[in-house]
Amino acid sequence: MSESYDLVVIGAGSGGVRAARMAATYGARVAVIEEFRVGGTCVIRGCVPKKLYVYASRFRDLFEVAPSFGWQVEASFDWPTLVANKEKEISRLEKAYVSGLDGAGAEVIRDRAEIVDAHTIRTVQGGRTLSTKYIIVATGGHPMIPDIPGKELGISSNEAFDLPALPHSILIEGGGYVGAEFATIFAGLGVHTTLIYRGSCVLRGFDEDLRRGLDMGLEARGIKRIYETDVKALRKQGNDICVSFGDGNEAPFGAVMFATGRVPNVQGFGLEEAGVKLRPDGAIEVDGFSKTSVPNIYAVGDVTGRSALTPVAIRDGAAVAETLFNDNPIAVDHSLIGTAVFAEPEIATIGLTEAEALTHGDIDIYLTRFRPMINTLSDKSDRMMLKLVTLAEDQRVVGVHVLGPGAAEMIQLAAIALGMKATKADFDRTFAMHPTAGEELVTFKAPTYRYRGGVKV
Ligand SMILES: Cc1cc2nc3c(=O)[nH]c(=O)nc-3n(C[C@H](O)[C@H](O)[C@H](O)COP(=O)(O)OP(=O)(O)OC[C@H]3O[C@@H](n4cnc5c(N)ncnc54)[C@H](O)[C@@H]3O)c2cc1C
Repeated sequence: MSESYDLVVIGAGSGGVRAARMAATYGARVAVIEEFRVGGTCVIRGCVPKKLYVYASRFRDLFEVAPSFGWQVEASFDWPTLVANKEKEISRLEKAYVSGLDGAGAEVIRDRAEIVDAHTIRTVQGGRTLSTKYIIVATGGHPMIPDIPGKELGISSNEAFDLPALPHSILIEGGGYVGAEFATIFAGLGVHTTLIYRGSCVLRGFDEDLRRGLDMGLEARGIKRIYETDVKALRKQGNDICVSFGDGNEAPFGAVMFATGRVPNVQGFGLEEAGVKLRPDGAIEVDGFSKTSVPNIYAVGDVTGRSALTPVAIRDGAAVAETLFNDNPIAVDHSLIGTAVFAEPEIATIGLTEAEALTHGDIDIYLTRFRPMINTLSDKSDRMMLKLVTLAEDQRVVGVHVLGPGAAEMIQLAAIALGMKATKADFDRTFAMHPTAGEELVTFKAPTYRYRGGVKV
């Protein structure tokens, strides 16, 4: 017998949980179906454990400068303690998500969902049939593993958090933020780390100064980078994995991690059979209101191939709940989304890169590099970078890029200013907060350089 709902959400990750909770709060009868753990990628094997491991890895940098402040530290690191404490924290968060859903009156069903037709969902193990007015697909994505010989010997970010022991060395393939973050995590925890990427530098698409600055930071931490080649095959060699590279070389590593991108979860649960159209890249095609090609089926989060970030999934999920159950249609504006890479050094960015801004006409660039104060008593040579990109025409600040300690926290606040279309004069009018690194953003005098007619002057 089928049970009747207003909304069935498939996937209890960032987007699905927000949509389900809000829809239930507005009085809808809601079920959210999750096949793994409530909280999804962000809570269980993404942002949250990643940031905890970043904190763990950053103690190395602190220990390095500690003697210059008079501290003598005898440090040792215990991986199982970190893994166990991480598990405790994500379990706490998972419970909090479940009680948030319970409290709002949404039913959590722990099972795999299959779409039977546009108004019917079946649970795979429980065999329940749910009939529903609306469906939200919030199934996220999974790591892409290159189809090469021996690929099963490698790991992805899914497994990296729970390795039984730290390897003596690791090769990470991929030049995106996951690769850069895990490279600094493993290096910070004492693992000999090599990053391999087929491009010429990490973080394609980010401002060039951030890319080069991060590359130098990785080098300063002893992370070997191999650019412009890739991994062709893996095979067992004693306790190690022997890697064959595209340039013909071979080398053994204690572990190999693929950080080669993520693929939307669209297979095997009846999407296409229900008539939901996919884009050529495999993501679900949606309109500005997150509606798919089937009028009562919506999709939010990573499965839609828009910005694969938790706050975007949450905002999209909330907008669908508003649209469907609060008579408040919302099309989310995705045009200004800040992002951070919690590598070492940390980088964060909002708005246009220098290269992108150039396509809008004449621009002025304000750029500074300096040693962060925490390093000034030691010989640690890491530098910070802060950069403003402004349009020459009206002096509007269209890009802010920061590399160094606290970059993400700074960009979170700069994002408000950019959203309000702040000009350089608005930044200048702001009193500096001293002594901070962020004060540099409001104390730039003349541009460091300009572009006029596409030429740097
Ligand atoms: C290593 C890593 C680090 C990251 N760090 C950051 C960060 O610092 N900041 C940031 O903003 N973002 C970060 N992200 C991205 C962020 O985690 C995702 O953008 C976000 O989780 C997407 O939410 P979602 O709701 O779309 O999907 P998900 O959170 O992936 O949730 C989808 C859920 O659907 C379930 N599911 C799938 N198919 C079915 C089915 N048929 N039936 C039932 N359940 C199903 C899955 O089990 C999963 O729980 C990171 C991602 C990774 C991998």
